[in-house]
Amino acid sequence: MRGYIHVYTGNGKGKTTAALGLTVRALGNDLKVYIGQFMKGQRYGELNTLERLGVPVERFGTESCIIGPGDVREIDRIKAREGYERVKEILLGEEFDLVILDEICVSTYFNLITQEEILHLMDIKPEGTELVLTGRYAPKEVIEAADLVTEMREVKHYYNSGVMARDGIER
Ligand code: ATP
Ligand code: MG
Repeated sequence: MRGYIHVYTGNGKGKTTAALGLTVRALGNDLKVYIGQFMKGQRYGELNTLERLGVPVERFGTESCIIGPGDVREIDRIKAREGYERVKEILLGEEFDLVILDEICVSTYFNLITQEEILHLMDIKPEGTELVLTGRYAPKEVIEAADLVTEMREVKHYYNSGVMARDGIER
């Protein structure tokens, strides 16, 4: 089966949850799924679930949140570098049917991964692998090179009324 490249971007809620929903569907069809999460080191609820399901999740971030490009530390760069090298190996290994690179788009906004690097990953994707890239601020060239692009548009978000991320719903 030919695999395609998806991008889930935009400011509205649902990018990571869409990728996780696709994971549930893929597993139900016996596809092998790999998830690499850029810029994330915090404990999210889905990690417990994915662990039980035997889905490998590798994380290329730290515990602390990066709020703006000015907050990026050396450790964030090192982790993102490790992540990039690792996901290249994962793609070239051709072991997985569905490869999800969560928040890789937003990591270009923080200058942790370049747009050319994402394009390279898209380029080396094996024919049969479905590749999903998530995160706000997907670069224009990445959007152009993808096969399926969904922009989550924020119509309303309770974040703007001061409701912070909640366990089980946002994390
Ligand atoms: P989800 O994981 O729920 O599917 P998402 O992947 O679409 O969400 P992200 O951009 O990865 O969304 O992260 C959203 C998180 O960032 C929220 O949980 C929220 O707490 C926080 N956040 C920071 N700024 C905003 C904002 N302006 N609007 C919405 N969420 C924001
Ligand atoms: Mg997300």
